[in-house]
Amino acid sequence: MVSSEKKTPIEQQAHAVLKRFFGYDTFRPNQLGIISGICAGRDSLVLMPTGGGKSLCYQIPALLLPGVTIVVSPLIALMEDQVQALRANGIPAAALHSNRTDAQNAEVYEALRRGHLKLLYVSPERLISDLDSGALPAAVSLFAIDEAHCISQWGHDFRPEYTQLARIKEAFPSVPVVALTATADKLTRRDISRQLNLRNPAVFISSFDRPNISLTVKQNPGRQMKLKQICDLIDRYPDDSGIIYCLSRKTTEQMAAELDVRGYSVAVYHAGLTPEQRSEAQRRFIQGDVQVVCATIAFGMGIDKSNIRYVVHNNLPRNIEGYYQEIGRAGRDGLPAEALMFYSFQDIATLQSFIDESGQKEINREKLSRMREYAEASVCRRRILLSYFSEETTADCGNCDVCRQPPLRFDGTVVAQKALSAIIRTDQSVGVNMLIDILRGSARAELIAKGYDKIKTYAAGRDLGVAHWRAYLSQMLQLGLIEVAYNEANHLKVTPQGLRVVHGQERVTLAQFLYEHIEPKQKTPKPKPAAAANPNGQLVKRLKELRSNLAKIQGLAPYMIFSDRTLLSIASLRPVSKQEFAQVYGVGEYKTEKYWEQFTRVVRMWQAEHPTVI
Ligand code: ADP
Ligand code: ZN
Repeated sequence: MVSSEKKTPIEQQAHAVLKRFFGYDTFRPNQLGIISGICAGRDSLVLMPTGGGKSLCYQIPALLLPGVTIVVSPLIALMEDQVQALRANGIPAAALHSNRTDAQNAEVYEALRRGHLKLLYVSPERLISDLDSGALPAAVSLFAIDEAHCISQWGHDFRPEYTQLARIKEAFPSVPVVALTATADKLTRRDISRQLNLRNPAVFISSFDRPNISLTVKQNPGRQMKLKQICDLIDRYPDDSGIIYCLSRKTTEQMAAELDVRGYSVAVYHAGLTPEQRSEAQRRFIQGDVQVVCATIAFGMGIDKSNIRYVVHNNLPRNIEGYYQEIGRAGRDGLPAEALMFYSFQDIATLQSFIDESGQKEINREKLSRMREYAEASVCRRRILLSYFSEETTADCGNCDVCRQPPLRFDGTVVAQKALSAIIRTDQSVGVNMLIDILRGSARAELIAKGYDKIKTYAAGRDLGVAHWRAYLSQMLQLGLIEVAYNEANHLKVTPQGLRVVHGQERVTLAQFLYEHIEPKQKTPKPKPAAAANPNGQLVKRLKELRSNLAKIQGLAPYMIFSDRTLLSIASLRPVSKQEFAQVYGVGEYKTEKYWEQFTRVVRMWQAEHPTVI
């Protein structure tokens, strides 16, 4: 840490503001450098993973600089969330967007004109129309472009209205602009800087590693088995919550129904719901009323719920950028969290068909194949992810399924030959499921009707289970022995290399599939739920009750009052005075004034009941 003598005046002020408004003592890597640069008037490009702490990078300059900071944000829910969180810390902030009445917006313009706001959140459309009409005050000290990758067609979340933002520099040439994103490969990065006309920007790239999130990928073991694994995961965190991402609206609803009948409290979130239904689902999740949200990727942007303990991908995601952003929503509090992904051949077919209908076929196809390589990898998964974001790694992570259980290899030539020969003998006109049924000697009607029980390789692979065959076929696909004809009902085709294997001219090494791979329960260190990590579980519970009551009265999400981490800190420090309370992690000046009496009262009452606990 930098000692206080060596700090520049701006750095000293930044530290003071960090403690005063947000209640934190130290900056995370890069935050201080970014803040200093912005305060000196420098354009900046900030790349930080989800949960890395991007917001403070412009919120603190907003408080240090004289005028108002304008934040461009793509989602209304995200803006409202940020505005509430800032106000809860005593910072004057507001948002302008189409979901507000004209009267509400007029009030905001009035506050802006009087110089009463430190932060103003706007949608890109609104900003452009305000630039046109001259509705913005001259005293803008900074523009922050959140989710800046939306400007680039190379990104995974392109929004045409973002491309107009180049106009900011024309209208306000001397005001610094900071662009922030959690996902940007090199191309996107260059595109952001070029399109926003950033002048010689300072580029800050934080490590994208989130070591507390364990990574696991499983070949879809079938519906029942998958559900069991998901239920086991939910059961591991009875007091916390998680997200299950599904590909389609229909599958989110099916998954929710499956969990609902098993007694879990579930919400559904997808673009087909009304805005009211969506915000209700989001509200229930944030308040902790439901354990799980089954959602399409529309869910989660800007959700700063710190105790999300797991993120499940029911299917292979479309690309690594999206996947990484989605799993990044877990474990923001730094405590252990889990990312679990299931994938199958069918997913690839479905995604392929989405891509064929999309406008960016080539890029999207490439991105999907990188995603698939990740899912099928037999080297440390975190290294693959980090190298995707151009980050160097020197060691395996020890917290992914591959590291925990490195695959055992064996000579799989005979296994591969059985499968390849069955494909050839059915004229390359079967998909994965039929092929496995043939190999395992199933007597299902369709198979018999087609005469597949007559071919030589029928039942030749009886000794292996369905899950084994799925895993080995997936490896054969990865090795290039077979291909899936996505345009021909996903039938499997043998490649020239596959033919060489059939003819005994080439041997094949496969990674052994073990059932332990599917259920690595005893090997996975069981992360402790937040409450259990503290011996004063009962006190934490009471603090949570108080927080929940306060949240209801004020119509805020509980985490906007205090994060779980702050409650854990209160339970271990047990402050009984205002002064002591002000020292707690995440407690700023405004919240000290507002809450010290109630929280210290709970602590004192608890202490009176437990006089012997030190
Ligand atoms: P991002 O926008 O990068 O996804 P946020 O800005 O929402 O992340 O920050 C994630 C969480 O980390 C928030 O709860 C925030 O209050 C917290 N945070 C940010 N900076 C610090 C810091 N220096 N010390 C402690 N907590 C921090
Ligand atoms: Zn690893």
